[in-house]
Amino acid sequence: MLLQKISLLKLSELKRVGCPDTPLYAIYGSLKHQVVLKHSHIKIYVRENTSVANREKLLSEWYREQLHHLVQELIPKWEETINVKVNSWNIKKMRTKWGSYNTDKKNVLLNLNLAKTPVECVEYIVVHELVHLLERHHNDNFQIYMDRFLPEWKQCREVLNESVLSFEEW
Ligand SMILES: [Zn+2]
Repeated sequence: MLLQKISLLKLSELKRVGCPDTPLYAIYGSLKHQVVLKHSHIKIYVRENTSVANREKLLSEWYREQLHHLVQELIPKWEETINVKVNSWNIKKMRTKWGSYNTDKKNVLLNLNLAKTPVECVEYIVVHELVHLLERHHNDNFQIYMDRFLPEWKQCREVLNESVLSFEEW
């Protein structure tokens, strides 16, 4: 089996939840397609003739799962802390936003690309969207809530501003 750094597939931007600098490797010749997270890297097992699109799909699904696990814990934790309740939440590929909140549906949308950012950043977006249940606009009141619930939110926002948002850059 051949171990090849995945940057050859223009996937070098990919990062995993909680550990942004984790390198990715593609392993060819595997019969079963899978993504395996090791302590220092991510291995992607694929057949050698698997198209780049399918490798990306495999990884996207894996990232979605990772993010889902994390958000599943974060939403109830912060619903309780902030004392609000959302109807539902979804993970979606989005080009321009890390997250959004739909007031009418009481639905939180989270960007799939959050899976590539540190856990603290995912938490920041979750808190940000839930605070919108208390304050709809990004005004002083909103900032007061953010300072109260997550004093380090500005650092997280900075990290996210420097992160790759678009999946299309692959
Ligand atoms: Zn907002």
